[in-house]
Amino acid sequence: MAGDDARGGSLRLNLRSRKVCVIGAGMAGLAAAHELRREGHAVTVMEQRGDVGGQWLYDPRTDAGDPLGAAPPPVKVHSSMYASVRLISPRELMGFSDFQFVPTRHGGDPRRFPVHGEVYRYLKDFCDAFGLMDVARLNTRVVRVAMAPPRAPGEEDGGEPRWVVRSVKIRESEDGTTDDEEIAEPQEEVFDAVVVANGHYSQPRLPSINGMEQWQRRQLHSHSYRVPDPFRGEVVVLVGCGDSGLDIALDLCGVAREVHLTANSSVESATSTTPAMPKMLANHAGHLQLHPRIDRLCHDGHVAFVDGSGVVANTVLYCTGYDYSFPFLDTGGLVTVDDNRVGPLFEHVFPPAMAPSLSFVGVPKKVIVPWFFQAQARWIARVLSGRNTLPPVEEMVRAVDEYHRGRENAGVPKKYSHDLGGVDPRNVDPKEMYEFVAKYTDLAPMEDWKNEIVYSVIRNVKQDRETFRDRDDDSENVRRGVERWLTLNMSAAANEE
Ligand SMILES: Cc1cc2nc3c(=O)[nH]c(=O)nc-3n(C[C@H](O)[C@H](O)[C@H](O)COP(=O)(O)OP(=O)(O)OC[C@H]3O[C@@H](n4cnc5c(N)ncnc54)[C@H](O)[C@@H]3O)c2cc1C
Repeated sequence: MAGDDARGGSLRLNLRSRKVCVIGAGMAGLAAAHELRREGHAVTVMEQRGDVGGQWLYDPRTDAGDPLGAAPPPVKVHSSMYASVRLISPRELMGFSDFQFVPTRHGGDPRRFPVHGEVYRYLKDFCDAFGLMDVARLNTRVVRVAMAPPRAPGEEDGGEPRWVVRSVKIRESEDGTTDDEEIAEPQEEVFDAVVVANGHYSQPRLPSINGMEQWQRRQLHSHSYRVPDPFRGEVVVLVGCGDSGLDIALDLCGVAREVHLTANSSVESATSTTPAMPKMLANHAGHLQLHPRIDRLCHDGHVAFVDGSGVVANTVLYCTGYDYSFPFLDTGGLVTVDDNRVGPLFEHVFPPAMAPSLSFVGVPKKVIVPWFFQAQARWIARVLSGRNTLPPVEEMVRAVDEYHRGRENAGVPKKYSHDLGGVDPRNVDPKEMYEFVAKYTDLAPMEDWKNEIVYSVIRNVKQDRETFRDRDDDSENVRRGVERWLTLNMSAAANEE
């Protein structure tokens, strides 16, 4: 479905320019803003924080008054980034198609898997390169999005849905215990379309464990974890063996007295049998242990595991993931979140009943970002302009039903509905993502050397969690690809400076 150049195409096809509100200026919102502008739409990005970057805008504050994140959404502090985060995805894959994530000349971390601050700087550079700060309204929190009465029939675009967006100007609180200060009266504006890009790594997802409510000692969600120091000398039980659980366990080793990792599900129990796990346990023998699921938390600090073993702990830290949450969205029940399934969403993007005026960027997980978000955004921009069309509503509804039914029949739990990693939630498989990009956009397919990196990272993580970021074993094909990529994109960047 290759398309024309945006401007040339709009002349030939008489494309429509819409007034669009994008909620959030993280990777997804910035991808949306860029693609919508490219297609000729009038864009306003509303971002509650004082800068762009989303998760990558590190925030030393935590939700200190509610470290479990158990209060009704939204959380007070958005970013869940902890200080030691290094990427788990390689920079060669992570760039926007037209602004690659090459190491910069002005310092920074040039490694393939850099620290989180490098991603933040990259996103800032991206905004500067495409003038996105001109359309970003910072310190602006969206508090309600609802359908506006449509224009009267007979008026231009009569009968088409529009959206009222209510926002407030805020000043961030000094710490995470008090509310942000509202510094102006709420404002209401009407838009032709709204793109929701508010992220989904902020609202803690908590397990249900016997005794959690009565536990007297410290318990927190990884959303409120920043540095290991507060856990010095402690016995810490970590619930969950996903990326955050494993990274935080390593962060704590050597600072905490003992770290006890526990699987949070049967899927995780199986994951923890990869060769990486015994290696990690052997490297930290005496500090790090792996247990099966927790059976109950006891009043006296005892943590009992389902195999009958137990440990007395100071802290239980839940690395159990996040829930989708759209506390500002009022669709009268047409978009719901049920056990982490947002729906119905056609291709994880458009709610059929409100398409294309309401759309979502960033819902899928296990995707290559921001590249994939850019693909979603390009599709939205083109549907809004009229360059591309959507199937009839009933067809989209049927496609969503079939998609979920197919995955359910293959045994995928509902909570993994938006993991595009194939039907096995333990695996990362880029096939579905590549198919989407080819079907709905004119973005170039992933080059073969980049694809080779994808598969080697998947393999390496399973082999050794602690060294996969710093291996130096690229094939000749990858070496040549990286060289070409650096030469092309670093000289392009130099010409622009
Ligand atoms: C600890 C950690 C490590 C990670 N490591 C990796 C990694 O190595 N590789 C990788 O690919 N991904 C990683 N991720 C996932 C990463 O966050 C996503 O890939 C990506 O950044 C999500 O972008 P987003 O724009 O969807 O969401 P976000 O980055 O969360 O951005 C959403 C934005 O919306 C704003 N917002 C929310 N609500 C409102 C509102 N009501 N009004 C106005 N603005 C609002 C927020 O302030 C925020 O700026 C990691 C995540 C975490 C938490």
